[in-house]
Amino acid sequence: MSTIWVQYGTQGRTMAKELLSGAGAQELLSRGMKVGLKPNLVLSKPSASGATTDPQVTAGIIEFLQDHGIADITIMESSWVGDSTKRAFEACGYNDIQKQYGVNLLDLKRDRTATFDVDGIALTLCRAPLEVDLLINVPVLKAHCQTKITCALKNLKGCIPDSEKRRYHTMGLHTPIAALNKALPQHLIVVDGIIGDLTFEEGGTPVQMGRVMAGRDPVAIDSYCAELLGYQPEDIDYIPLAQSMGVGSFYTQVIERNQGKGQSLQSVPITRRFQHRISEDQACSSCLGSLLHALQRASENGSPLPDAVVIGQGFQARTGSALGIGRCTKGYSPHVPGCPPSAADILRTIKEHCS
Ligand code: SF4
Repeated sequence: MSTIWVQYGTQGRTMAKELLSGAGAQELLSRGMKVGLKPNLVLSKPSASGATTDPQVTAGIIEFLQDHGIADITIMESSWVGDSTKRAFEACGYNDIQKQYGVNLLDLKRDRTATFDVDGIALTLCRAPLEVDLLINVPVLKAHCQTKITCALKNLKGCIPDSEKRRYHTMGLHTPIAALNKALPQHLIVVDGIIGDLTFEEGGTPVQMGRVMAGRDPVAIDSYCAELLGYQPEDIDYIPLAQSMGVGSFYTQVIERNQGKGQSLQSVPITRRFQHRISEDQACSSCLGSLLHALQRASENGSPLPDAVVIGQGFQARTGSALGIGRCTKGYSPHVPGCPPSAADILRTIKEHCS
C-alpha cells in the first residue's frame, strides 16, 4: 500500500498510461464498475499556470480505463468558493476531454450531500464521490500558502459543499482534511507532477517537476510529495493526523519506472529572485524544479542561501566549490546526490553547508 510509482517526462497522456500499467492498476478494475476521477480544478486557469491538473494526464487515465473495458467514467470537481466549476472545466480543457472520450462532467457544487461523524467531527460531503465503485484522485503537486503543500489528501476538499469549505478554514484546515479522507475512500491516486506551483495553490509561479506518480495510499503519496517540495512529512500537520486516524501510512518504497535523466531539459525561466545564484547548463526540469523548491523553502525559513549553485548535465566533467545539484555535479563539493535529488535533500545540504 505504501509504494509509490514514478514516471518522468512531460507528455502526460502517455506517461499516465504507462505509469498505471506499471503500477498494476488494472487489478482494481472490473467491467461494469462506476469510476470517478477527481482532478484539481481549483480555479479557471490552465495547467501551465501550475494550478490545475493537466487534461492530458486525465486523458491518459481515461484511455487506460477504456482500454480495460470501463465505460462509466465521471470527472467530478467543485472549484473553490470564488470560482465556477463550469468555467474551470472550460478553461482547463475538460469540455474537450468530455467530447473526445464521451465521459461525464459533474459539478459537485450542484450535488446532493450526506453528513457523517468522523471521530467526533461532523462533516458534510458530496454524495457522488461516495457512490462510485472506484475513486481516482488526480491532484497537482504544488505548494500552498496555508498548509505548505497541497496534493492527495487536500485535493478531496473539492468533494465538499462550499459552506463546508468555508467552515474548514475556521477549523484550521488540518483536522477536517484528515477526517475527510477517513470518510471518503479513494482507491487510486495519480499525481500530476509535470508543472506545479512554487508557493500558492492558485498558480502563477509555475515550476516544472517533470513527473507523474501513482499509489493507493494518500498518506504515502503526500509523505513522499512533501519531501519533493522541501518539507518533511511531519511539517504538514494533516499528514501525520491522517495517519493517526488510520487513513494510511508514510511511504516505504519508491519505484522509478524510467530515469529523470535527460527528461525535458529545462526551458522555463528560473525564478528571477534566484537567478543570480544558479549556473545552469542542460539541467533536466525535474532537477531544476527540486532546486527551486529547496531555495524557496530555505528563504521562507530565513536560512542563508548558497551564493553559487551549479546544476545540469553540462557540469558532468567539471569540478569546483559551488553547491552541486544532482549526480551530474559529483565533482563539486558540497554536492547533493540523486538523479534528480528531492528538494528535502537539497535543503538539508544547504542548511549543513551555508550557515
Ligand atoms: S542529475 Fe543530471 S541527469 Fe540527473 S536529473 Fe539532474 S541534471 Fe538531469
